[in-house]
Amino acid sequence: MPKKTIRDIDLSNKRVLVRVDFNVPLEEKDGQMVITDATRIQETLPTIKALLEKGAKVILCSHLGRPKGQRDPKQSLAPVAPALSALIGVPVAFSEETTGPVAKAKAEALPAGGVLLLENTRFHAGEEKNDAELAKGLAELAEVFVNDAFGSAHRAHSSTAGVADHLPAVSGLLMEKELAYLHDELENPDRPFVVILGGAKVSDKIGVINRLLEKADTIIIGGGMAYTFRKIVQGISIGKSLYKPEWEPIAQAALDKAKERGVKLLIPVDAMITDAFDFDAKKLGTTKYTGVNESIPDGWEGVDIGPETVKLFSEEIAKARTVIWNGPMGVFEIKEASKGTFEIAEAMARNTSAKNIIGGGDSVKAVKKAKLGDKMTFISTGGGASLELLEGKVLPGVACLQEK
Ligand code: AMP
Repeated sequence: MPKKTIRDIDLSNKRVLVRVDFNVPLEEKDGQMVITDATRIQETLPTIKALLEKGAKVILCSHLGRPKGQRDPKQSLAPVAPALSALIGVPVAFSEETTGPVAKAKAEALPAGGVLLLENTRFHAGEEKNDAELAKGLAELAEVFVNDAFGSAHRAHSSTAGVADHLPAVSGLLMEKELAYLHDELENPDRPFVVILGGAKVSDKIGVINRLLEKADTIIIGGGMAYTFRKIVQGISIGKSLYKPEWEPIAQAALDKAKERGVKLLIPVDAMITDAFDFDAKKLGTTKYTGVNESIPDGWEGVDIGPETVKLFSEEIAKARTVIWNGPMGVFEIKEASKGTFEIAEAMARNTSAKNIIGGGDSVKAVKKAKLGDKMTFISTGGGASLELLEGKVLPGVACLQEK
């Protein structure tokens, strides 16, 4: 980092291959595949529009679904072409072939300011293996490569990384923003810097906890993974709440590191508990709140943070100048267990003097469901990619881009 972007190179009249994330949800209606949520297309518009303004010839490629190297009409990108065309107001040509003579002829026929969408890169078995032939085939269509698919940047595939072996490669505007907020901003954050982590498993988030323990002033831990911490710190029993014995040494090490570095590590002090939990049916049994630092009875499990925890966490969030949040505070997919997650989103929204960053995955869903999206400074489009970046890992789809 920092990486060159489409602003740093001359793209006028150049054929530009842009890896976007058009992995949109599709539904069959009257025998046709229909896009049910165009958010991912909308996220790419700033880059596409900027390229058109620069007089580039824009060739778009993406994966969609998991066709496992086979052509599958139900996972074709064809419906995206008219949807994109309606959004940008220029025709979008479609190539049924991702590479090869048909795609090449269509790419070469593009005028400056023209747009071509290629068929699903995952119709080729080579894509997920980062096959060099496929990468070369893609590169032959263009003179420059732009990666704007942050959500796929943690994967070394032909269209996300391999193609950059053959073309000058720079970042798109969405990718640039993701790196700015999930990386650069956190290197030297405005303080206090508060990190909120939730979600199910200690093992999934420990990489992020360890990395951000080096940067944060406060780390707040909620969600299913908090029960392991509560068991250790508060010495309570946690009933049948989410827990694995092998998470205990991991959590203990994080607690030790926090102490050593002087980072405040906040964990829940109360919980909403239930005696029955059916995730698929989205149903809970009887629910109640525990008292502060009270054990969870046998046969009961914690599914959300309680009111005293919301107060404790919200007070800390109110003092922050930078907040990053990844992972829900409870089983927010079930309405009765979503309150804590939404109240944390509201606490962030209330702190208008902080940079509020939503670091991907389920917290994005929660913020959108709470209709607080416009109160946040940045909402990541990544899931796995956001986590890996927050862990400090090198993402192949970023590493392959030219340095500034
Ligand atoms: P992650 O993908 O690791 O961010 O985890 C998100 C998932 O964690 C969501 O599906 C939540 O329902 C789940 N989750 C959060 N809190 C709990 C909890 N207390 N018990 C079980 N699952 C939880």
